[in-house]
Amino acid sequence: MHAFSYINGQLQCENVALQNLADEHGTPLYVYSANTIVDHFQRLDQALASIDHEVAFAVKANSNLSVLRLLAQAGAGFDIVSGGELFRVIKAGGDPAHCTFAGVGKTREEIIYALQNNIYCFNVESEAELAYLNEVAAELGVIAPAAVRVNPNVDAKTHKYISTGKSENKFGIDFDAIGALYDKAASEWKNVRMRGLQMHIGSQLTSVKPFVEAVTKVKPLALSLKEKHQIEFWSIGGGIGIVYHDSLASGNPAWWSAQEVDAKPLSIEEYGAAVVPLLADVGLKILLEPGRYIVGNAGVLLTRCLYEKKGSAKTFKIVDAGMNDLIRPALYEGHHEIAPLKEYSGALVTADVVGPICESGDFFCQNREMPDFQPGDVIALLSAGAYGFVMASNYNTRPLPAEILVDGSRSKVVRKRQTLEDVIAGES
Ligand SMILES: *Cc1c(COP(=O)(O)O)cnc(C)c1O
Repeated sequence: MHAFSYINGQLQCENVALQNLADEHGTPLYVYSANTIVDHFQRLDQALASIDHEVAFAVKANSNLSVLRLLAQAGAGFDIVSGGELFRVIKAGGDPAHCTFAGVGKTREEIIYALQNNIYCFNVESEAELAYLNEVAAELGVIAPAAVRVNPNVDAKTHKYISTGKSENKFGIDFDAIGALYDKAASEWKNVRMRGLQMHIGSQLTSVKPFVEAVTKVKPLALSLKEKHQIEFWSIGGGIGIVYHDSLASGNPAWWSAQEVDAKPLSIEEYGAAVVPLLADVGLKILLEPGRYIVGNAGVLLTRCLYEKKGSAKTFKIVDAGMNDLIRPALYEGHHEIAPLKEYSGALVTADVVGPICESGDFFCQNREMPDFQPGDVIALLSAGAYGFVMASNYNTRPLPAEILVDGSRSKVVRKRQTLEDVIAGES
């Protein structure tokens, strides 16, 4: 489910009209649906219900404390990629014993912080990192739980910047080197205990095929590590794709069908049906690390149109959000549907929607057919709940936008809009 649809001509998030939020809190403004977030978590959890598993939310997709608290209360674990994310999880009431720590460049301070908080596992990405983890754990007189990220050399068929499971990516360790590394850890490094095996082949996968291929390929390795080194879990990573095109919950305007649409979206039931049978007889706890799937369609970015500029070649609609607020189009050629907050039935225009930042890459779409919204109108950039606010910056000295969490008919500011004083705090 996701909870953005037109009701009586107004775009709503759950039972709250987005126009009211824009008027009250200003724009640019991120708005999230609490029920969508929890629903997505529960659907994935259900799809895996027949096997021993845990869903660990990838915090980097959306790390707002209120979002983390919702998921902690729903029973999620957390996949973190920094000491800062662990700090957030703890502040939000999450349990470090259900945290896995990923990433290729963990620092000494981060390792110590995570060891002191007894996280579930360090997912290491190089032999040097495993040796260093052993060294730091020895200094502290503790045993560090560890898993190695295997690079299965599988093509996730996603954008090159979010593909991680090929040999040429910086992530993980070559499949063929894993066995020897676990043997070495067991014989030489007394302050690490190999607790699991991890993989993650990429993000925004829209087909189950690469998942099936990777699980099938790595399964014999997982079984042999269980036999030889008594590992207890296998994390199969995140990466479940979402729909970015035609992404309203119901009542998609007719004009959207004119646009290019995603290849058939990957349903979570389809994902479960494909991977669960492969995992049922492994005898390991299966971890999943979804980020985008949980929060992507649960959020929108509201932005107000400031000006329209008709050039000789193009029409530009200039809005008050920029690539500093939502960088996905500039960074990954990401697509976000544009929906006016007032339902539109007039003629369509072809235009670029651009922000105020001094960069040519600062656009939300180019040459797209869309409703002819006007200066003063507020539009929603849909499916902005993942890799949206978390990647926002102060570029061009623009304060970070506010974030709102909607639950039914209630809405709450879960992050205040930055002031200019906030932006320069710490400078002299
Ligand atoms: C980013 C990341 C994820 C989450 O990816 P999504 O595509 O958002 O599901 C999971 N695991 C690891 C190791 C990651 O780096």
